[in-house]
Amino acid sequence: MTRTNWTRDEIAELFDLPFTELVFRAAEVHRAHHAAGEVQLCTLLSIKTGGCPEDCGYCSQSAHAKSGLKAEKLMDVEAVLAAAAEARAAGSQRFCMGAAWREPKDRDMGKVCAMVAGVKGLGLETCMTLGMLTGDQAKQLKDAGLDYYNHNIDTSPEHYGEVITTRTFQERLDTLEEVRGAGIAVCCGGIVGMGESRDDRVGFIHALATLPRHPESVPINALVPVKGTVLGDMFAGEKMIDDIEFVRTVAVARITMPRSMVRLSAGRESMSESTQALCFLAGANSIFTGDKLLTTANAGDSADAAMFAKLGLKPMEAEEPMRKILPGTGRGTATRSGVVEGGERSEHGGVGPLHHVSYGPPPRAGEELV
Ligand code: SF4
Repeated sequence: MTRTNWTRDEIAELFDLPFTELVFRAAEVHRAHHAAGEVQLCTLLSIKTGGCPEDCGYCSQSAHAKSGLKAEKLMDVEAVLAAAAEARAAGSQRFCMGAAWREPKDRDMGKVCAMVAGVKGLGLETCMTLGMLTGDQAKQLKDAGLDYYNHNIDTSPEHYGEVITTRTFQERLDTLEEVRGAGIAVCCGGIVGMGESRDDRVGFIHALATLPRHPESVPINALVPVKGTVLGDMFAGEKMIDDIEFVRTVAVARITMPRSMVRLSAGRESMSESTQALCFLAGANSIFTGDKLLTTANAGDSADAAMFAKLGLKPMEAEEPMRKILPGTGRGTATRSGVVEGGERSEHGGVGPLHHVSYGPPPRAGEELV
């Protein structure tokens, strides 16, 4: 059984545990629900870069930022499919497409759906992040074959207004509800190190862990201060999140959302292998690969391959546990008591129809997908 009725006090108590006790508990939960030696590898493609009207303070693609990033048009379907074919040839199984939009315009939906259908037709899993969605747009994407939609809550409800002013926390939740309603799996997380307090990190995890159904994927990012962005200029040269506190955040996410894939995303390139190893021990089991993440550097495939060899980790072969309990499968139910039932793990640690992405070409990512 998976709880969705966590209290803030319970989550705060987890954060306050002695570090080794917290990591030990998280590792136990991880092993109960996942194959602990396996890490999911994901790749990204930015299908529309820059010029976004939103003012997310961390994002170089915002039109409000002075990052010098040139706005580009939505890519052609053929170019996206060519990139997807290349990714598949390199071993990818999921292809993630991100657009720097507040929301897709209805006139763009035909092209975007053609991308989903085409990528799906190549035999790849599909994931998109396009900003806010209406219910009708979510349904169109589902009908086109979309498997996952990324939409991050970013931070706690209380800290949210310090980071973004052009849309509300509630609007984020509304889009997640539309995505769920359409039967699309959810990827939703946020960023730490944006000047938030420990209590905000508690609130951030609490907001995710009390969603009616936990996100299938929970990306945990560390802020990468990009020059020209509000937060990048505010925190230039500072290390905004202590490594141990970052690992604590990963561990609490793992304990409170046991079946979700907890993804190390932006900020990983500046983490030592030791810190990443602690994250994997604490339950992180997904990473983005490639040399570039969004507009910032990522750890790089060869560095990751060397780290995997050193740590004895291997790319995930198992399927995602959460996929078993999606609406319509008849195999899991969110109850009024705040418990999601069903979806027990298989002997090899994973169940459900979908699984991971493997190494592919360096991604050009939409900001939302981290
Ligand atoms: S994070 Fe997404 S919505 Fe926010 S400015 Fe960047 S591209 Fe736009």
